[in-house]
Amino acid sequence: MPDIIQLLPDSIANQIAAGEVVQRPASAVKELMENSIDAEASFVRLIIKESGKTLLQVMDDGKGMSETDARMSLERHATSKIRKAEDLFQLRTMGFRGEALASMAAVSQLEIRTRLAGDELGTLLVVEASDVKRQEPVACDKGTSISVKNLFYNIPARRNFLKSNANEYQHIVDEFQRLALAHPEIAFQLIEGDTLEFDLPPGKLSQRIVNIFGKAYQEQLAPCREETALVKISGYLGKPQAARKKRGEQFLFVNKRFIRSNYLNHAVMTAFQGLLPENSFPFYVLFIEIDPRHIDVNVHPTKTEIKFDDERAVYAVVLSAVRQAIGAHNLTPAIDFDADVNIISKLSSSSAQSKEVYFEERFGSPLKTSNRDNWETIFEGSREAFLIPKEDIPQVHTLRFESAVNQSSEITEKVCFQLHNRYIVKQVKSGLLFIDQQAAHERILFQKFLQQSRTKSVQSQQSLFPQALIFNAADFAMIMEMQQEIEALGFRIEVFGKNTLLVNGIPGNIPSSHEKELFEGLIEQFKINQSELSVPLSENLARALAKRAAIKAGQVLGSEEMKGLVGGLFACATPNYAPDGRPTFFIFELTKIETYFR
Ligand code: ADP
Ligand code: MG
Repeated sequence: MPDIIQLLPDSIANQIAAGEVVQRPASAVKELMENSIDAEASFVRLIIKESGKTLLQVMDDGKGMSETDARMSLERHATSKIRKAEDLFQLRTMGFRGEALASMAAVSQLEIRTRLAGDELGTLLVVEASDVKRQEPVACDKGTSISVKNLFYNIPARRNFLKSNANEYQHIVDEFQRLALAHPEIAFQLIEGDTLEFDLPPGKLSQRIVNIFGKAYQEQLAPCREETALVKISGYLGKPQAARKKRGEQFLFVNKRFIRSNYLNHAVMTAFQGLLPENSFPFYVLFIEIDPRHIDVNVHPTKTEIKFDDERAVYAVVLSAVRQAIGAHNLTPAIDFDADVNIISKLSSSSAQSKEVYFEERFGSPLKTSNRDNWETIFEGSREAFLIPKEDIPQVHTLRFESAVNQSSEITEKVCFQLHNRYIVKQVKSGLLFIDQQAAHERILFQKFLQQSRTKSVQSQQSLFPQALIFNAADFAMIMEMQQEIEALGFRIEVFGKNTLLVNGIPGNIPSSHEKELFEGLIEQFKINQSELSVPLSENLARALAKRAAIKAGQVLGSEEMKGLVGGLFACATPNYAPDGRPTFFIFELTKIETYFR
């Protein structure tokens, strides 16, 4: 029998490769724009007709190509970006596979106009289905312009497979926005038909976000930043209140490459947990910078999936960065457009943690003068984090600053009272502050418990008459499994016969309470939480206990208690929400009050 295996002609090989690299007009847009970015362009213009089906063209003012390079760029596996296998592990460019142009040329009518800065004339190349039809010198601008006409004209099956214009256009816009977000220093334009759809001047990331998504975003952005030996994280988060019902405005970049990662998205969502209404998705644009040696982008031709060698470590940093940003900026009214992520370090340096610990230590004890400066700095740093103007909050704290022993109770009495045994009302500079006593106390306790179980610095109060509690077998087994975490909260428990526990001690910082109810309540609440949320065990316990132990609506509070609640709340990293997302306070603005009296 004769041999039957043959090598495929290049044009067919390219067509097959095109199936992977170019699935739709948007993929061609991505490849062309990435090439412009790799060519160090400072301006990139995308022109499309009929959602890219008849024309998509990308013009840039980048390096350009010599005549030979222009010709070479159409060959498969022809690239200027890597030379040897090791280069794959230190990639700094978007492209490297050298197959995009070859693939596009195989499935369209492609035209390249390109000129090197030093040359007088450029090169024009016209290609149809991998066939070079024309190659000649041409007068053109410095840089490169590549048009892809009638994509898939020679593969009717694929052309028919394209979706409606609206659908394909949306995909193009998605790709365009991702690249524009990743490169705010480059100017971008998108022209569809005769309309200039996007005109993005070069600038800072914050400006780019607002230019793309609209002015409303200006109000809702909080910077996020964290740096460890392994990774650097920067970007912006949307406020929980502004979260959308639709997923989509969530952008994750690794070394400026847009990626999809359910795993890392989970880290962000976990940080937002308890702050979002159900089924809503916060806006975020986050950049992860990592040494290319620790990642592999060569997983898929479209390169939106990548592998980290230590994914869990990256997860942990993302989680902590987002948590901290939410804590520090939850109420950020507007970002400062003169200060970009790089400069806003003041805020992140007064991390939620330190503020918490700081106040935790001071709260209840007079503030020493030596600490005053420190507190003021910390406070100054996180000032923007509170909606309330700076002058307002210190009314809570100034009592301490001024060591006005005699005045303090008088002032508090004048400005703080309880409404219907549910709300604490307090005059602040911008109006009237209303605090929901129950929600606020839950927030304070939650933070305290979490802190204690993290730092293992828990206090316990001994029960005088320890109580025996009987559970069903399943609950008993569950409790035994998390005994350590339960004890970290301040409970002291002991096995006392079959399915029976003795509660010898309860957390020290809880207002007097019955052990039995408290402990049973904790377990019950824990189970409810468990079915609703997926948070770490100790966090769930802290939530459950906070919910059970908090002061309830209807409880009469003395002035010291109110004072403690107000101070404690604003010392929290996330004062404005209870752990389950209920708001803890709001301010009835003076200006609003004035409108009632015209
Ligand atoms: P890759 O980007 O993976 O190298 P491509 O097929 O996308 O592969 O491009 C092949 C080569 O053509 C690139 O390596 C680059 O040298 C050159 N090239 C493509 N587009 C441009 C451009 N807009 N400006 C300058 N050079 C370009
Ligand atoms: Mg490329």
